Amino acid sequence: MEAGHGKGAPDGIGAVIKRAAAGAMLHGADIVNAVSMYDTLTKKGIAPHLFLITDDQFEKQEKTAPNDLQAVNGNIKIHQIFTREPGRFKFRDVSCFCSFPVDCDCFTPKHHMFPINEQRAIGDPSDTVASEDSGEA
Ligand SMILES: [Zn+2]
Repeated sequence: MEAGHGKGAPDGIGAVIKRAAAGAMLHGADIVNAVSMYDTLTKKGIAPHLFLITDDQFEKQEKTAPNDLQAVNGNIKIHQIFTREPGRFKFRDVSCFCSFPVDCDCFTPKHHMFPINEQRAIGDPSDTVASEDSGEA
């Protein structure tokens, strides 16, 4: 396998984050969970572009996802996913950015299509399930 293939950008970013957290702890930071790691790395400017996704945000997203989604076979091996239209994507077990931002067909990506409601795919608001904050009390 050529250099640069196989390990994706997320692997490299994960390693950098782990090293940064370990370094902050060596300098006295108290990192005990995701929130304290996020706070430490962002407030000290070590990793200013991190996003913290809360359990509430995951739960909210689960409620808006269609109930009939099917798992992609072999998803634990997937390293790269790319899509150009709702409900359809290509994936492969290695990453390649040789023609980025144009998708390449290196390593024979597989195709997957979710059986989604076409109205939902184009964003018909009448088909949306509680996806917006509406000032709930
Ligand atoms: Zn490529």
